[in-house]
Amino acid sequence: MEKTFYITTAIDYVNQKPHLGTAYEKIGADCMARYKRLCGYDTYFLMGNDEHSINVEREAARREMDPLDYCREMADVFTGAWKALNISYDDFIQTTEERHVRAVTELFARIERNGYIYKGKYEGLYCESCEEFIVEKDLEDGLCPRHRQEPKKISEENYFFALSKFEGRLLEHIENNPGFIRPKTRENEIVNVIKGGLHDVSISRAGVEWGIPLPIDKGHAIYVWFDALTNYISALGFGGEESELFEKYWPADVHVIGKDITRFHCVIWPSMLMAAGMEPARSVFAHGFLSLAGEKMSKSRGNILDPEKMAGVFGADGLRYLLLREVPFDKDGDISTQSLVGRYNADLANELGNLFSRTLAMISKYLGGSVTPAPFDGGCGLHGVLSDAVAGYREHMERMEFSRALGAFWPSIQAANRFIEEKAPWTLAKDETKRDELEAVFRELLAVLRTAGSVLFPFMPEKMSAMLGRLGAGDPSLDELPPSESGAEGLSAPDPLFPRIQEKPEEIFKD
Ligand SMILES: [Zn+2]
Repeated sequence: MEKTFYITTAIDYVNQKPHLGTAYEKIGADCMARYKRLCGYDTYFLMGNDEHSINVEREAARREMDPLDYCREMADVFTGAWKALNISYDDFIQTTEERHVRAVTELFARIERNGYIYKGKYEGLYCESCEEFIVEKDLEDGLCPRHRQEPKKISEENYFFALSKFEGRLLEHIENNPGFIRPKTRENEIVNVIKGGLHDVSISRAGVEWGIPLPIDKGHAIYVWFDALTNYISALGFGGEESELFEKYWPADVHVIGKDITRFHCVIWPSMLMAAGMEPARSVFAHGFLSLAGEKMSKSRGNILDPEKMAGVFGADGLRYLLLREVPFDKDGDISTQSLVGRYNADLANELGNLFSRTLAMISKYLGGSVTPAPFDGGCGLHGVLSDAVAGYREHMERMEFSRALGAFWPSIQAANRFIEEKAPWTLAKDETKRDELEAVFRELLAVLRTAGSVLFPFMPEKMSAMLGRLGAGDPSLDELPPSESGAEGLSAPDPLFPRIQEKPEEIFKD
């Protein structure tokens, strides 16, 4: 049977344009999706927009637009940004779509049929910006900690989901499935939350029109979170007549999300699925947050970076590489324009870019563009370091440790640059009798470049395709790395793959 891999990202509220934090999540997920495709998995990568939000309705009203038209327009804005960043999603779900409404309705019906929905009175606090009910103990100075805003007191008849019935099953599931919640720190948090006792959650709002009507009471709309979480199965055709995708890809292999929505994905979502008699996803990966020069990025601080603008400076692939290299995906981390420009010039322009340019330029100059193919094996100088680099890369990629995967591979690039200095091909080229030795040196360098083109492809798909093309190496592949044979013909000196950034970092993002 073919190996499948289903990966999703959080769906985004459409009341503001994508920012760097949102883009970071999609870039990480895309890197993983591309890696799994290279590993031979039949991969399905889902992204989408969360449209049933009161804030969306408000924003549409402010612009005097029909909310559906507004959502359509924002879907173009988001998908445009994702394409500009080389994000290779297979499907983009919008929660106002018919297929989604059908799936939410069906999931609700199953949970209700199994006896986990009841009507009750909700009295408590509600943050209008979170669109979440919030409990007293989570407030800071009486305010929602995320929005620094006072929650509203609400008292209404609501439908409830009997979340409290799932404490035991959730704990058992987490214990029996190591790695269900990654990283481990988030797992510990969730286990503590469950052990502290789960309360039933309200899953409907009375008198809300912008939402999916509750099947059993049309005076209510389904609570946004219940609605939003269901996107992961509605995109696969769940609840419809054609659900081959659902049969094939569910349960999802990984939901990639921000660490602030871990509870929804690790407590509520698996319980909803269990309540419906379905399998929970195999894992949830909660990435950390980026801060800019020591400060949290936020609208109010005015330091939100525009990913498309940044891609204009570093290139889409340059930006992808920098974000995934600078900050470990599972942790919070700080970036600055200085650190990004510094690393771009050091890693990409100098080390990788130069290795590629000078190797091809020398092969073209000294050998007329051809290196006779011959085995590349343990007898060669760079074989050992390259084998280790690939092994380290694979191990970290499997765990979505992108920064560490790059850190494990990079020594092979640096070793190749040192190898050039040591072997001094420009001297060997002056002696006709050293032609074999000269070819052997370039054979090793070509093996490193060909390997780099494949292992770095998930990070920099466009640049690495171009590099492999210039090497005459065809499509990226992780099947046989390092390659057992090395050589090439018809090579010529390329233009710089990563032109050096000359501007001062502080000038780059000035408006
Ligand atoms: Zn809030």
